[in-house]
Amino acid sequence: MADLQRVLPELLSDTGELLVELDLGKAPDGIRFMSGSIQGDIELKCQRCMEGMKLPLDLAFCLGLVQSQAAANELPDCYEPLVLTAEPASIAELVSDEVLLALPIVPLHRGSIECQKFVKDYQPSSNEQRDNPFDILAELKQKQ
Ligand SMILES: [Zn+2]
Repeated sequence: MADLQRVLPELLSDTGELLVELDLGKAPDGIRFMSGSIQGDIELKCQRCMEGMKLPLDLAFCLGLVQSQAAANELPDCYEPLVLTAEPASIAELVSDEVLLALPIVPLHRGSIECQKFVKDYQPSSNEQRDNPFDILAELKQKQ
């Protein structure tokens, strides 16, 4: 995980491991591709309570390997283009790209059980009188 330099600023901790599988192949239409999957848990910071939240990743991708941007534009939609340059493609960079794409724009806990802020915000104070909607209904009925 510590290899993914561009992902780290998004994460609460760099512990944990991602299981990455990569497969190189050539499609019947001649397109060379690299397919792969990324699985594992990463820890993000909830933007509501600023506590950690686990995000399970289970990503699959298929990159079409092309020599130029022009060739990238002609790839079928099922491929994400990967333009090969003189530099050897870095696996860590590739994985970083995929993980960054999968991150939520604003990470938030889903509910009150996990999210600390949620719990604090929604605890009704003891001297607060709340209207019970059923009481109002009962009043309406009596007036009829
Ligand atoms: Zn939260």
